[in-house]
Amino acid sequence: MKEICNKEKCTGCMACFNCCPKKAIKMETENGFYFPIIDEEKCIDCGLCKKKCPSINKIIKYFPQENIAYAVINKNKNIRDTSSSGGVFYNIAKSIIQQNGVVYGAAWDSKLQVKHIRIENIDEIKMLQGSKYVQSNIDFSYNNVKRDLKFGKKVLFSGVPCQIAGLLSFLEKKYDNLYTCEVLCHGNASPIIFEEHKKYIEKINNAKLKEINFRYKTKEKCQNIQYKFDNNINVINQDPLKDYYYNGFQSGILLRDSCYKCNYIGIERCADITLADFWGIKKDSIKLDDNLCYPSLVFVNTKQGKELFEINKKDWNIFKRPIEEAIWGNLSLRRSVPINKYKKKFFTEYPINGYEETAKKFLIEHKGIKDRIKKLIGKNATAFLIKVLKR
Ligand SMILES: Cc1cc2nc3c(=O)[nH]c(=O)nc-3n(C[C@H](O)[C@H](O)[C@H](O)COP(=O)(O)OP(=O)(O)OC[C@H]3O[C@@H](n4cnc5c(N)ncnc54)[C@H](O)[C@@H]3O)c2cc1C
Repeated sequence: MKEICNKEKCTGCMACFNCCPKKAIKMETENGFYFPIIDEEKCIDCGLCKKKCPSINKIIKYFPQENIAYAVINKNKNIRDTSSSGGVFYNIAKSIIQQNGVVYGAAWDSKLQVKHIRIENIDEIKMLQGSKYVQSNIDFSYNNVKRDLKFGKKVLFSGVPCQIAGLLSFLEKKYDNLYTCEVLCHGNASPIIFEEHKKYIEKINNAKLKEINFRYKTKEKCQNIQYKFDNNINVINQDPLKDYYYNGFQSGILLRDSCYKCNYIGIERCADITLADFWGIKKDSIKLDDNLCYPSLVFVNTKQGKELFEINKKDWNIFKRPIEEAIWGNLSLRRSVPINKYKKKFFTEYPINGYEETAKKFLIEHKGIKDRIKKLIGKNATAFLIKVLKR
């Protein structure tokens, strides 16, 4: 069978799927992860898919301007509360829409699956806010972005780094009206396991899921997973460390193979602007006006990134921090998540024994998840993570 890139390198970015002139590539899933399959009858060997694959071609990267890390906190509490960290993405998206532009990003659909969508109204930004810890389906977004760019629209494309690389590789040439915003990424977790998890949550609660928020903030605690059900009665605020799926995501069991050797680790970035959680911030070095969890970490990488930053400055409290502080507290700036030794066992056993039984065996806290996280990311970063989860 024809291969575009080595399976372990494929990020499922879908650049090949978007560029094929004969529609000879379809995306099929293996363990829930998207991989391209070439229909050899339709393929004309034009080589475009290989040319546009970001995993086998060089992607231009940039160092953060002036070697500065910004800790950024939105002045609007409501925006902070509905965002994962400091609520920076909301304003970036709003400023593009206010210039008659369009924004692409990851949203829940009606089946609570994660897909990239296109929005052009400010009241739609809420669909893109918040981290969804499931790999987003890009579908034909890159083609749609290209159409918008050619039409002269300002386009903001947001996503995890391998999706930004996918778009840039697909487009090949630079567009002055394109702005890219990446969220730093721990890894892309399996959509099919998330489907299984949702079924399990619905079963034990005897109700259909309506909404999921992986980063629900309460006064007491900075991060809860909130499940809302369609009976409008049950709302569960789950401790992430007690959630099978979150544990599997965090401990490196449920991630895609390419994530264990991620090409986008380190401070050299491919997007115009980079957003992350500022885990490493020294809390007494910044002024907080409520018990907000952690600010957003922002890297401004290009001229376009600077434009996005400058235009929104008035809506944010901004603190310049040494870049080492950001690197120290954020694993995703230092190394890929190591593969968890239970990954293979999990994916082999779950089709036989079902999700619930396999999750109980491999994805629970008393199986030493905390210790494994400690081993993965080190004592300091674990202490941070646990502190954050407890706030
Ligand atoms: C899968 C994933 C893993 C992450 N891992 C880390 C990490 O290890 N370290 C770290 O510092 N930060 C990580 N982040 C980023 C962090 O959680 C926040 O998204 C970031 O700090 C921006 O927060 P915000 O408050 O400014 O905006 P928010 O409103 O929270 O961010 C919204 C943005 O996230 C994008 N997004 C949401 N879900 C997805 C998805 N599934 N795929 C692609 N894009 C998505 C939206 O398109 C939008 O651009 C991760 C995010 C995701 C989605």
